[in-house]
Amino acid sequence: MQIKAKKSLGQNFLKSKTALLAMIKAGEIISDDIVLEIGPGQGALTEKILETGAKVIAVEKDDRLIEVLDEKFAESVKNSQFTLIHGDILELDLNKMGLKNGNFKLIANIPYYITGLIFRKFLSGDIQPKKLVIMVQKEIADRIVARDGKESLLSLSVKAYGDVKKIMKVEKENFSPKPKVDSAILLINDISKDFFNEINEEKFFDIIKTGFAHKRKMLVANLKEKFGQNDLQKIFQHLKIPEKSRSENLKLEDWKILTKNLNS
Ligand code: SAM
Repeated sequence: MQIKAKKSLGQNFLKSKTALLAMIKAGEIISDDIVLEIGPGQGALTEKILETGAKVIAVEKDDRLIEVLDEKFAESVKNSQFTLIHGDILELDLNKMGLKNGNFKLIANIPYYITGLIFRKFLSGDIQPKKLVIMVQKEIADRIVARDGKESLLSLSVKAYGDVKKIMKVEKENFSPKPKVDSAILLINDISKDFFNEINEEKFFDIIKTGFAHKRKMLVANLKEKFGQNDLQKIFQHLKIPEKSRSENLKLEDWKILTKNLNS
């Protein structure tokens, strides 16, 4: 069946076998794994995941594709290797889908309009995958890995939960229909909340958001707005953070130390 891609659902189907196999390799998928796939589309990635022997739970929003997938993977549905859920991943309760914290991998070529919401649900939520391999817009991947050496609210918000690595760039020609932007495969490994064992998650985010509030201001000036009751100069000296630092120059560990030392 010929399916006309729906722009509103971010439908750009991946054609590149190299990219598909790179996602499987990055996921280090073995037959014991449970893999959650968001937006299986016409099943190009699903097929490769199923070939590893892993169990796949896929969530697809487009009812037209449910029919296609049910037919294509009838055998895998029958032997319970494949479970297809018709729904919106943002609205589903992961617990009710049988997913437990750390017992699954998330591998997906996601619709880009929900990239941020997917990070939020699967990184700061209570049920985290152990590993996440996703296709994102190339610029987003570069910002997350801080390719230019500059950290951002986005890079820190992701790195706080896992180790990030850009696997490869995937040019727009590898999708059908061809999108306007290039993409990249991003791997987030060893996902956990261990970073927040010693510091409060909410306080950390409050501090980084304040630190990045005004791009042109120095970090001290930004922090003064909300944390002015602290002797910021003294704290910076004590922590050996240069007083004229900009937020983008501080690494994740520096923000952890700041969170420990600032009173809110
Ligand atoms: N995985 C396929 C591939 O690699 O060719 C399709 C990828 S396409 C970029 C994104 C897919 O996500 C589409 O099939 C679309 O219908 C589906 N989708 C869009 N929004 C969704 C949502 N909120 N929940 C689940 N699936 C969604």
